[in-house]
Amino acid sequence: MQEGAMQAWIESSQFSGGNAAYIEELFELYLDDPSAVPSEWRKLFDSLPTDGAAMDVKHSQIRDQFREAAKNKLKQSGSGSLNSELAEKQVRVLQLINAYRFRGHQHANLDPLGLWKQENVPDLNPEFHGLTKDDMSTEFNVGSLVIGKETAKLKDIHQALDSIYCGSIGAEYMHIVDTEEKRWIQQRLESQLGQPKFSEEDRQKILKELVAADGLEKYLGTKFPGAKRFSLEGGDALVPLVKSLIRRAGSQGAKEVVIGMAHRGRLNLLINVLGKHPQQLFDEFAGKNTTDKAGDVKYHMGFSSDFETDGGNVHLALAFNPSHLEIVNPVVMGSVRARMDRRGCKDGSQALPITIHGDSAIAGQGVVQETFNLSKTRAYQVGGSIRIVVNNQVGFTTSKREDARSTQYCTDIAKMVQAPIFHVNADDPEAVLFVAQLAVDYRNTFKRDVVIDLVCYRRHGHNEADEPNATQPLMYQKIKKHPVPREIYAKRLIDAGVVSEDAVQQLVSDYRDALDKGDCVVDEWRPMKNHSVDWSPFVDKDWDVEYDSSITLAELKDLGDKVSHVPSGFKLNSRVNKVYEERVKMANGDRKLDWGMAEILAYASLVKHGYRVRMTGQDCGRGTFFHRHAVLHNQKDASTFMPLTAIDDKQAPIEIYDSVLSEEAVLAFEYGYATAEPNTLVLWEAQFGDFANGAQVVIDQFLSSGEQKWGRLCGLTMLLPHGYEGQGPEHSSARLERFLQMSADHNWSVCVPTTPAQVFNMIRRQQLRPVRRPLIVMTPKSLLRHPDAVSSLEELAEGKFHNVIGEIDKINPKKVKRVVFCSGKVYFDLLAARREAEKEDVAIIRIEQLYPFPHEEMAEILKDYQHVKDFVWCQEEPQNQGAWYCSQHHFWAAIPDGAKLTYAGRAASSSPAVGYASVHKEQQQKLVNEALSI
Ligand code: AMP
Repeated sequence: MQEGAMQAWIESSQFSGGNAAYIEELFELYLDDPSAVPSEWRKLFDSLPTDGAAMDVKHSQIRDQFREAAKNKLKQSGSGSLNSELAEKQVRVLQLINAYRFRGHQHANLDPLGLWKQENVPDLNPEFHGLTKDDMSTEFNVGSLVIGKETAKLKDIHQALDSIYCGSIGAEYMHIVDTEEKRWIQQRLESQLGQPKFSEEDRQKILKELVAADGLEKYLGTKFPGAKRFSLEGGDALVPLVKSLIRRAGSQGAKEVVIGMAHRGRLNLLINVLGKHPQQLFDEFAGKNTTDKAGDVKYHMGFSSDFETDGGNVHLALAFNPSHLEIVNPVVMGSVRARMDRRGCKDGSQALPITIHGDSAIAGQGVVQETFNLSKTRAYQVGGSIRIVVNNQVGFTTSKREDARSTQYCTDIAKMVQAPIFHVNADDPEAVLFVAQLAVDYRNTFKRDVVIDLVCYRRHGHNEADEPNATQPLMYQKIKKHPVPREIYAKRLIDAGVVSEDAVQQLVSDYRDALDKGDCVVDEWRPMKNHSVDWSPFVDKDWDVEYDSSITLAELKDLGDKVSHVPSGFKLNSRVNKVYEERVKMANGDRKLDWGMAEILAYASLVKHGYRVRMTGQDCGRGTFFHRHAVLHNQKDASTFMPLTAIDDKQAPIEIYDSVLSEEAVLAFEYGYATAEPNTLVLWEAQFGDFANGAQVVIDQFLSSGEQKWGRLCGLTMLLPHGYEGQGPEHSSARLERFLQMSADHNWSVCVPTTPAQVFNMIRRQQLRPVRRPLIVMTPKSLLRHPDAVSSLEELAEGKFHNVIGEIDKINPKKVKRVVFCSGKVYFDLLAARREAEKEDVAIIRIEQLYPFPHEEMAEILKDYQHVKDFVWCQEEPQNQGAWYCSQHHFWAAIPDGAKLTYAGRAASSSPAVGYASVHKEQQQKLVNEALSI
């Protein structure tokens, strides 16, 4: 603050000496939390001139000046001590209010079992703030506390605080920086005094839903004793909670809700929320097989349905989920983003993600942090998500906090994005529903994540066959005696005269009868109409399906012209400018096309014809190796421009985003996107191919096997830079062998394209062929600029990706004594070495698609070499890596009877590549010479 202004402010009449201490403390409070002081004071403090320096530095200076001014005034007037004492007490009251807002949750009644040992929080005691019993009947200003009056006796204020902040809801929100958000939450929490009011009808509905939650588990337990079902018992309030979220979201305009959850309570949600027919579940328990695919256990299965709400039907999709608990979160977010994009909804108001976590997993698994980190980024935001923790206070057999986590609450990670966290006692379903409504309203108002920590327990072991007493004896002694949630709530309603005992019994037996019939038990269930995409063109299609990928030379030239156009006045970096000048020549046919241009043309040709394109990855806008330049940066003002967005007035949107520095969450997000949207070409690029390691769970659990397990098609493309250029172990290999090892059932294609025409046609094929299976691409690094790795416009216009490319030099097949098979960059090394050695008895054949292996095309090419007895597979990777072990059986099947197949490549190695460029070079030379027999 400027000194003059400060002085004038202090000397103004309202700050006369007796009040200075009051103002000083008020100001301290304001600095802690602007929402803690009454609004007129906040406005005043807000209006103080600042000079931009840090508040806490100025704060001490301001305090000194307050003190000085107060002393002077007191000296002048010789009075004011009475006033000043009251004023100080007033501030103490405000401090008490603030303490409850910050730390009330630590004394809230959250644990249904009463096992949580609550620490002593001294700030919640009025005495801590210097307020005594004598003050209890004094009337104080309530400041910003929203309890419907401006002043109240201290004892009433204290009581209100207790019931708001230390009842069944423990609210953590004071870590939020934005004052408006904090005020909003305070308004909602405080005005209800911790006692949300529901109509009789609503309360009966809650009871009915608890009866359903409990009834299903009991029914399954009796009918299929000992079978694993990962019962919800103890966390029964999850059913009314999720239904309430859907209802509220639907009434506010949501059209789709995507849910991701682990196995706990999944069967219950499937039957009691999504409306799966119980008979179908019973058949699954009985082990009936309904598909010709590999399938999955019932508690990993997804489901889709529609659900009626006041705002119209909402489409529900429960995502399929592997046992890797938290990985489904980014999948759900990606699915929601796809639905938003399809609906042209930018703020998430039409699609809501709900993720349901376990208390151990949410604290333990890093992908949770990664997913929170996605939540406000351009590429991945979904307008906020609702995160529920089914906090049964134990993860399998681990319940000691000092073993399970290092944070106070399992939800602490959510504070990284300043999400409000509402801990709630699951035995108080009305508090749970109040929090549900608050969460939806908060998410829709502020477009941010919000967490509901449903504090409950687990009635049985990890699964029903497990013995929990072995590891949690005290907890389970308590659980055994603890009435089930339905009983607790029924008693509450009976006591309140809302229902009779008979009516409760009737609800229980009605529900059991409905299950006996096997029909849907969800009143709101509606047949599925509301999903907006048709997968039928892609179902049951295999690679050999016919498709048209032709493109004329004229169209290619026109697109080439457009993608190399930069608006006037847009100043490019000189090196980028050179790339673009060359692209102009390529478009004119004056120069052969390089990789970057061909790739860009592939996207241009797709968006022009209405196919959306979405690409994310680490630095993919420019390209790790400076080849793509899809996003241009103006050197004058740092604005950006994407020529691919200016192809045609009617073109489809294209989005290219540099990703956050994550692989796991990002790839899972793109998987979720691609499984929800077949009409968008979705690509993810790794900075270096082996960084995909960080996303291994997505590759193993979803991409490779999602269709076999769950019948979910996915056309995601992974671009993985791969190639041995002497850059060391971490930057050489995209671990091709792993993808080949997982290749079966035509689950995906694995390609290693070597020319710009090939990459152009491969990308187009991926979208135009009505097959939606992942495409794994080993993409090049040095080939991006290799003088021989160029293509003509005519080659692009040919419109076909060649799975195998035969000999390109004029070599007489009859003279050939050896045929070398290879993939990728090593081809160019082999070609150069053979040309230099002028060898004419070795033919080189490139296999551009390693899986599914192109037997037919190979047979066609090998027709000319049936006399050859000597076949070699040449690879850059060590022998235990690359394609040698996983694809060898295909090579053997391809070569003529009686021919031999040998290996030319690096020796087996535990590391992907050597760290010394000179050793690399030596090895490379040797393997090339061996392959060519030089
Ligand atoms: P959803 O919008 O995810 O609930 O999907 C609605 C319906 O579309 C599902 O019940 C499936 O029949 C179909 N479907 C959705 N996603 C896929 C997919 N990835 N592969 C095949 N069919 C799908």
